[in-house]
Amino acid sequence: MSTQRTLLLTSWFFPHKVIRWEDAVTLVYLGKADTVVEYGEEISSPSVTMKLPAVVRLRKSFGRTKRGVRFSRVNVFTRDGFRCQYCGERFAMSKLTFDHVVPRAAGGRTEWTNIVTACRACNSKKGDKTPDRSGMFPRQAPVQPKTLPLTGPVVDVTQAPIEWRDFLVVTT
Ligand SMILES: [Zn+2]
Repeated sequence: MSTQRTLLLTSWFFPHKVIRWEDAVTLVYLGKADTVVEYGEEISSPSVTMKLPAVVRLRKSFGRTKRGVRFSRVNVFTRDGFRCQYCGERFAMSKLTFDHVVPRAAGGRTEWTNIVTACRACNSKKGDKTPDRSGMFPRQAPVQPKTLPLTGPVVDVTQAPIEWRDFLVVTT
């Protein structure tokens, strides 16, 4: 059985998710998505032979923003534009961390209004100190967003199948 994954695009060709190819075949079979790019590899059952879908696109459109935004690493980074809130530099997700503005040791909670995106250098410089003691204040006061722009799946372009490359958004 193939272990290939399929890139699922929104109706406007924006990368949405990475899914199992079996799920992609199901979406195409149900008429919910169309195949955009195929892999060279074929799958066959007694009745059907088909090429594995590499990239599929949803037929139905949905909004460009997410509502009811869940608290998660990627959503916090998205809110902050993948920028460290202390030095202001933009980083790849793998180089970013959560910073508790008011440290946990001082009673700070892990929630939207107390977490900001920080690079590792700023995070360790600030350490377990409050903004007052460290002299480091986030550039923007952290808030709970009502909506966020949709982001694509976090895919390392250099590791992604060649068939996906035209559709991936480079965030660094
Ligand atoms: Zn920084």
